[in-house]
Amino acid sequence: MEKALQLFQRIAKDLLEDESKKRVSDYIPSDELYNKLDLELQQDPLSKEEFEEALKELVFASPRTATPAFFNQLFGGRNETAVLGELLSVLLNNSMYTYKAAGAAVGVEKSVLREVCKIIGWSEKSDGTFASGGSLTNFMAMIMARDTTLQDVKRRGMHAPMTVYTSEGSHYSIPKNASFCGIGRDQVRYIPTDEKGRMIPEELKNQIEADIDNGYLPSLINLTAGTTVLGAFDPIEKILPIARNYKIWTHVDGAYCGSVIFSRRYRHLLNGIEGVDSFSFNAHKMIGTPLTCSLLLVKDSFRLFDSFSNEASYLYQTETMQMNPGQTSLQCGRRNDALKFWALWKSVGTKGLERIVDKQFELADVAREYVRSHPDYELHSFDNSISICFSYKGLDSKELCRELYENNTLLVSYGEVKGQNFVRLVTINAQNTKNDILDFFRTLEEFVSGHSGLTKKKSLFSSH
Ligand SMILES: *Cc1c(COP(=O)(O)O)cnc(C)c1O
Repeated sequence: MEKALQLFQRIAKDLLEDESKKRVSDYIPSDELYNKLDLELQQDPLSKEEFEEALKELVFASPRTATPAFFNQLFGGRNETAVLGELLSVLLNNSMYTYKAAGAAVGVEKSVLREVCKIIGWSEKSDGTFASGGSLTNFMAMIMARDTTLQDVKRRGMHAPMTVYTSEGSHYSIPKNASFCGIGRDQVRYIPTDEKGRMIPEELKNQIEADIDNGYLPSLINLTAGTTVLGAFDPIEKILPIARNYKIWTHVDGAYCGSVIFSRRYRHLLNGIEGVDSFSFNAHKMIGTPLTCSLLLVKDSFRLFDSFSNEASYLYQTETMQMNPGQTSLQCGRRNDALKFWALWKSVGTKGLERIVDKQFELADVAREYVRSHPDYELHSFDNSISICFSYKGLDSKELCRELYENNTLLVSYGEVKGQNFVRLVTINAQNTKNDILDFFRTLEEFVSGHSGLTKKKSLFSSH
């Protein structure tokens, strides 16, 4: 083991050194991957040197998500304390189903969940779990919503048509999960959003009433805290009375931006959160832990037991059962995803988490200010969001993002709302500085001035 750790350290040291000089790894077209890299497996073992070389080659060829040139998805950076926690969880290799197999790790997981529940403002009756990704915490929420709507579905299977409500800007895991749950993709109602990408309460209410009239059972209202493209927050407070009136489970999908719960300054974006039934967020997005670290919090822990316990019913629960998190999880064997978050939280305190969140909004303000004050740019997103959507010189953003990628310049992606496409810059890496953000724009502008062949966006209103 010690030799393996030394090898790890050599590779890590080389990578860090190279990353400081070279922010983007060389682009490898997918159809050339197997020609460029020796990835195939063979009968005979490699020599130690050959093996080290193979590992190093792979590591150096991998996309660099920790550098200030990566803005492609809703994660980035490399928080060293969280990485340390993750490395320890790999070394310990506990599995989170029982106290017997996980021991202290159960306490770690429970501490994180308890503290988040407290911050939400929930009582001791609340609880939660970790799953491997925000899609799956959303899935668990939908299952609880389904089981609450019709108690016997768990045993009999789906026998009544249910509906799910989510905004047109919400994540694609919602329709996928609806198919997994037996609710069906066609029973997902996409509620229109206002000019800032937020679900319109009145539209929601009308749709629910129409569905009830047509014999459907409304089962879940999914609200998004940080929509994938615009980073918009659905108005929880305005929607709760509707949810209560029709007794519909309300979940907040905060995978992207639910971590604002840690910020006194931005927590207002989640106003009303204490009134919902479940809430999920990804610490591997805003908090910056390694992937994956996805939390699901549930106001009434009975619902979690009711949907996910295997044999034991909630009534027969003993203290040991509460310490066996396998009773409330989706999986059986489960990684210790809590440790990386706990390690970071323990070291920087809740105030440190707050600083991480606030920093991202500060960087977003820098980026928005830049876009607003430079006439070659057009802003398509809004304040109080860490997604900055813009177009530059009327260029086609899809092509621009692809060219930046294939020319090893920047990793950033494009988004599309209501027929407009634009570059989506996310200031999710709290390790970036103001200069890194300004550098992003400089790099983009230099690239465009050196690539005159880029095409202009097709105008939506062009005459034929
Ligand atoms: C990222 C994201 C998800 C999915 O989370 P994964 O961990 O990638 O599965 C769900 N909802 C929203 C709003 C997201 O941004």
